[in-house]
Amino acid sequence: MGVSIQFCGAAHTVTGSCYLFQNPNGRVLVDCGLFQGPKTVKALNYSEFPFRPADIDAVLLTHAHIDHSGLLPKLVREGFRGRIYATRGTIDLCSYLLPDAGNIQESEVAALNRRNSARGHPTVTPIYTQADAIAALESFHPVEYEAWFDVNAGLRARFWNAGHLLGSASIELEFAGAGGAGKPLRVLASGDVGPDAKLLEPNPDAPAGFDYVLSESTYGDVDRPSTTPEARRHRLAAEVKEAAEAKGALLIPAFAVERTQELIVDLIDLMDRGEAPSAPIFLDSPLAIHATEVFRRHSSSLVQGDDVLRLLNSPHLRFTETVEESKAIGRLTGFHIIIAASGMCDAGRIRHHLRRWLWHSRSTVLLVGFQVQGTLGRFLRDGAKAVRIQGEEIRVGARIRCMDDYSGHADGPELARWIACRRPIHRGMFLVHGEDRALLGLRARIAERIIASAKIFIPVLDDVYDLSTAAPTPIEVARPRRLAPEEVVKLDWHNELSKLILDINDRLRAAADDRSRGVTIRRLRRALESEN
Ligand SMILES: [Zn+2]
Repeated sequence: MGVSIQFCGAAHTVTGSCYLFQNPNGRVLVDCGLFQGPKTVKALNYSEFPFRPADIDAVLLTHAHIDHSGLLPKLVREGFRGRIYATRGTIDLCSYLLPDAGNIQESEVAALNRRNSARGHPTVTPIYTQADAIAALESFHPVEYEAWFDVNAGLRARFWNAGHLLGSASIELEFAGAGGAGKPLRVLASGDVGPDAKLLEPNPDAPAGFDYVLSESTYGDVDRPSTTPEARRHRLAAEVKEAAEAKGALLIPAFAVERTQELIVDLIDLMDRGEAPSAPIFLDSPLAIHATEVFRRHSSSLVQGDDVLRLLNSPHLRFTETVEESKAIGRLTGFHIIIAASGMCDAGRIRHHLRRWLWHSRSTVLLVGFQVQGTLGRFLRDGAKAVRIQGEEIRVGARIRCMDDYSGHADGPELARWIACRRPIHRGMFLVHGEDRALLGLRARIAERIIASAKIFIPVLDDVYDLSTAAPTPIEVARPRRLAPEEVVKLDWHNELSKLILDINDRLRAAADDRSRGVTIRRLRRALESEN
């Protein structure tokens, strides 16, 4: 047995980056991310890992985002005793992000259990707690960019700046003697790759000449109009003006790190120059506030670190850290800006603000990040007329706007260029971390032009490949897969059910009178009964 890879996450439409590399000297993970999206996928967070955590020797972490780091506390709690290698920026961000994720899981499970016990359903336990997350931080071990270090006797690794987020990396792996004729087997895992035009992070960087490359595909099917910082600020100014004219709240669901800080820099700039109407900007996220502090500490390593320092002192910006402060801004009327997590609206304070404002025609929701299928943010982006938040149905009256300019991800052409710069790629190219459309879009972009079609692979969850052979060779493992490939569908049944309930409510509300409502209900009842 030489070297193999198991795709334990971020494979074919499933989120949650996690790759298990095995060589004769042991087992190493690249990333250990939380699954996000439809309930069927999120349920994987509660199920067993497809490996024994105690058998894993080390983790190499590409970056701090929760879909890459979010199951590390569970890994440690379940017996992992090795090191988690990451850059200092990633470690600093994780020291806030992971305890916050533990806290979110504890409070979500507490709310769920209240609902479950009211209905006589069994209670559930959180995936991990805040205490588990804090304990996991002990395992982190800092590494420098562009410096080799030994992971185990036959494996060394090197981190490259991926330009996606403070501390983000693509990771180069070299398995000694496994590449044939005594040569090393060389592998590159992209992590998330940043776009070219950004304020704070440099362009992505990595060497060339690999046996295997794993590339993320998030925006593989997207050609973003090329942007400059000026064009982006101009578009943002137009959005802010329209929101101000509507005279309600402008809600910006945002991830806690990087692009939030960049967005704030732009907003304050626009207001300072009189190019957008002045208004208070509430950063309503303890996590984003702490992350902003991390950026302040690392400002010397950021491309425009001075801007980060300046924004922290702007009178426009208000930090609301406590729950009371957060509730107080929920009572405001008129034009103001609220930036709150989570970026996909599936957790965090943004949900309270959406409950307060989403029905209101004066308000605006500006989506600035990628929205995974099955999340509330994606439903809004796709034009849902009504949504459910914490069991409550809310009509969408707000203007829903999208701006891709603050994406932390490279688009299709940028990904294709990044891949082209990694050539020669001798044995295989794995496309990961994307929805069907994105994966196929990226494949179409690179097939033949950049790499032979026969060398491009799109693995599904829990696929295992032998990497020691001349081309990647699938290995059948006896263990059952966590998800049957046909289960990984666009929208799972939970989402279909939510939509059906909303449609039924719509129909009943639109009916002329209670009599016709009764007729509709009896018809539905008959349809249900005829199923048995
Ligand atoms: Zn990321």
